[in-house]
Amino acid sequence: MEEKFLNILYLYPDMLELYGDYGNIQVLKYRLEKRGFKVNIASYSIGDEEPNFKDFDIIFAGGGADQEQSILSEDLLKYKNKIKEAIDDGVFFLLICGAYQLFGKYYKGVDGNIIPGLDIFPYYTESISDRKKRCIGNIVLNVNLNDKETKVIGFENHGGQTYDIDTPFGTVLFGNGNKFGDSVEGFFLKNVIATYLHGPLLSKNPELTDYIIKYSLDRKYNENTILKPLDDSFENLCREQLLNRFLNSNSPS
Ligand code: GLN
Repeated sequence: MEEKFLNILYLYPDMLELYGDYGNIQVLKYRLEKRGFKVNIASYSIGDEEPNFKDFDIIFAGGGADQEQSILSEDLLKYKNKIKEAIDDGVFFLLICGAYQLFGKYYKGVDGNIIPGLDIFPYYTESISDRKKRCIGNIVLNVNLNDKETKVIGFENHGGQTYDIDTPFGTVLFGNGNKFGDSVEGFFLKNVIATYLHGPLLSKNPELTDYIIKYSLDRKYNENTILKPLDDSFENLCREQLLNRFLNSNSPS
């Protein structure tokens, strides 16, 4: 029987890897391999040969500080059309924080400098001028995945405030979101999830991980994949503790 596999591309791992973002790829790999699927992981950084974006099933990019964002933006913009084609083709994109910002119109840094984004999505991000004021801390969202509500837990640390989001990733139950005290967080459009949640996000949220895995396998093999359940008792216990701590207390921790 043919071995089924997914190809994952990690964009700019040397620059976009804050707070363990690579853990997201490790979690995808772990949950796929546990079910007998093979995983190929490739990476692309400045100076590497141009990746064939459409050859990948999942494309991931993590968070990065303003400095890294300004360095890589010019390189990223070279691939605007190819990235857009891959999105239109249905490749799944998971974009965290700095990468989330770079897929919008622009990111305006603390000093007022404009870092151009890919302008694939209509949102934009501006930092507030006080560099000490950042949205930092744990965050919990209510997210709708295939018409099922689930709570997504993460950690946010961003100065950027993101505007003009029509299709957010989730509603905020605890924490800030796209802006200070916002009611919504991130951006979600079919095969693209862009979010401020680090954590790493997927280790705390197995349901979300399986959503991405199922979407990607269904698309690649043109079938309705039934994912074998895994033993998530440890993850669920951890989630219970965290949700209890964040949602049943008044003080952010
Ligand atoms: N530089 C961006 C900000 O502070 C992104 C930070 C991040 O990726 N954690 O808003």
